[in-house]
Amino acid sequence: TDDSTRELLLSRIRDVPDYPKPGVRFKDITPLLADPKAFTALTDALAELSVRHGATKIVGLEARGFILAAPVAVRAGIGFIPVRKAGKLPGATLSQAYDLEYGSAEVEVHAEDLQEGDRVIVIDDVLATGGTAGASVELVRRAGAEVVAVAVLLELGFLGGRDRLEPHLLGAPLEAL
Ligand code: AMP
Repeated sequence: TDDSTRELLLSRIRDVPDYPKPGVRFKDITPLLADPKAFTALTDALAELSVRHGATKIVGLEARGFILAAPVAVRAGIGFIPVRKAGKLPGATLSQAYDLEYGSAEVEVHAEDLQEGDRVIVIDDVLATGGTAGASVELVRRAGAEVVAVAVLLELGFLGGRDRLEPHLLGAPLEAL
């Protein structure tokens, strides 16, 4: 992405202090979604990345990752696969648990949606601690597919998500727009 696109995208992300709890600065992308110029620029940038990495499947992470990844899949002409929180997918699933600050969480994918030979780009809005992305990468790989990149709109560098994700990437790049 060029500087003017990055500036446009950044200008459409709203900082909400102390949401959803005190001390958290929430990155709200709804202004970006409401601006067709910004949403299109983001979709184009992610589609270009997907094609450049030779992706054959686009995995979006619930919930805001769905909103970003779905138009990218259509734009790039590549299938969209949802990774959901546990208990939401009706078919046979693979699940992957991961640690949160307090407790744990679990993500799932339909086992039949990914096969050996698939090249997957994983898309989400924000990389925070990297737990969700790391578990999703493992899930994709356990389904038999290869992860070619993880792409996010925003990386919150001070949370160390890149370091937590790194051992799961096996050399695939983390692309933060
Ligand atoms: P993590 O597993 O800590 O990297 O958290 C990633 C998920 O939580 C992403 O799907 C984000 O949408 C969401 N998230 C975490 N922190 C924030 C934040 N400060 N602002 C917006 N979304 C966040």
